[in-house]
Amino acid sequence: MTVHSRAAAEENTPDAPDALPRRDHFINGERVPPADGAYLESVNPTTGAAFYRTARGSAADMDRAVRAAHAAFENPAWRDLSQTRRGRLLRRLGDLIGEKAEPLAHAETLDNGKLLREMRAQMASLPEYYHYYAGLADKIHGDVVPGASRSLLNYTLREPVGVCGAITPWNSPLLLTTTKLAPALAAGNTVVIKPSEHTSASLLDLVELFEEAGFPPGVVNVVTGLGAEAGQALVADPRVRKLSFTGSTATGAQIARACGERFVKATLELGGKSPNIVFPDADVASASMGIVAGIFAAAGQTCVAGSRVLVHRDVYDETVERVVARARTIRIGDPTEPTTELGPLAMASQLAKVEAYVAAGREEGGRVVTGGTRPDTGLGGYFYEPTVFTGTDNGMRVSREEIFGPVASVMPFETEEEAVRLANDTDYGLAAGVWTRDLGRAHRMAAALDAGTVWVNTYRAMAPMSPRSGFKNSGMGVEHGTEAVTEYTRLKSVWINTSDEPQGDPFVLRS
Ligand code: NAD
Repeated sequence: MTVHSRAAAEENTPDAPDALPRRDHFINGERVPPADGAYLESVNPTTGAAFYRTARGSAADMDRAVRAAHAAFENPAWRDLSQTRRGRLLRRLGDLIGEKAEPLAHAETLDNGKLLREMRAQMASLPEYYHYYAGLADKIHGDVVPGASRSLLNYTLREPVGVCGAITPWNSPLLLTTTKLAPALAAGNTVVIKPSEHTSASLLDLVELFEEAGFPPGVVNVVTGLGAEAGQALVADPRVRKLSFTGSTATGAQIARACGERFVKATLELGGKSPNIVFPDADVASASMGIVAGIFAAAGQTCVAGSRVLVHRDVYDETVERVVARARTIRIGDPTEPTTELGPLAMASQLAKVEAYVAAGREEGGRVVTGGTRPDTGLGGYFYEPTVFTGTDNGMRVSREEIFGPVASVMPFETEEEAVRLANDTDYGLAAGVWTRDLGRAHRMAAALDAGTVWVNTYRAMAPMSPRSGFKNSGMGVEHGTEAVTEYTRLKSVWINTSDEPQGDPFVLRS
């Protein structure tokens, strides 16, 4: 993505960026060009070439979208819809998205460079999320609370919060939109989405489906653009009563501060530096494949990347050998080709970041056993080889900071206690993997690890019904599962006096 404003466009020749297809905001059921006419270029990371332009949203565009969402929240066509009917709309939306899965998968691969077969699998899973929350829509309710006295009935109402803002990153654009949108709509809210400036295409490709599914205009709106412009305007808008964000820890902290100032609920799914731990009783061949999947899938651009590999000294050499052998045979290339196993990084800045971390790891004394350079693919995009460090320790930057690329540090340990200590010695707490055939150890580790998700003898499993949350700097709040719905509701306590007794004078003492 490079910035391209109207001023710059006017100086361009017709076949320069201005000739690229334009994608506008989606507000109140309509495609709306940016108020100030500015656009951003989106680049295909496989080739490095710009291929479309998205509206560069301003505060004025965001104001228009939030106004539409606010009006839609008050609109009886949405507000008074029964919860069962709301669920029906979500189910229909899931079905329609399922029918469009193939072009949506292509749009995402062109935008972020992830393997087409991975994006196909993600798109195929989206209807499951909408169907899951469709089923929950009419199971959202308050409780009757045991009263303080027989003549007082106390019950709770679980209400929608109003206009919700959703801000998403580039690595899994529609999946991470869905995990916010589906529970927010199930609870009866309206939504304004600000997708990543690098990957807006797939969301803009599906927006017509909202109306086709039966959602009134304004219930879902999309404003594209930069975080510092459109994103900040969404976070700062006083009509937005709930913010849901997936992205880096640094941005998450800024959003948490802004939400705190306004007492707005925030769900934050942030970065990670997850340990993937191999015990000597594990099936080492299987564990090694788990390590490869944990760090090299999606070229390491997943929040749950198993970037800190902790291996018991007894199986250290064998594990490193197996991981390195597989890393060296990973087929790097065009992510739309069915045989490709590793595509490019999503953008030039991401490639530069990975290169800087590998240089830092070398300077700190780490040894690159494989990778550590750009491959020659002849495609011109942002490719980087799968990279394995040994000789690192848990204090080095490559072991502490989120790289978000195909770079693993493999570190030895001697005892279970040491493995737990090393695994938990991190600012993050998103996920952890454990490889062992000892049942007792599996449960001990699951309890001891300071991470929102623990996988034993598997890695990266997820499902709509299984809650996901980040501990420590990996975030707050819950996505997926029934818990996600409560993030998009507020709880009201109602007291009813059921007695016929008149209200007495409050200042006369009753015996
Ligand atoms: P990012 O924080 O740079 O951007 C994420 C989104 O926030 C983008 O839409 C961006 O435009 C917007 N944004 C940026 N600054 C903003 C601001 N000041 N106010 C409002 N919005 C702002 O993150 P990224 O580089 O797009 O994504 C990668 C990060 O996302 C990694 O750290 C990764 O671990 C994390 N991630 C987390 C999860 C999870 O579930 N925990 C899942 C995927 C990705």
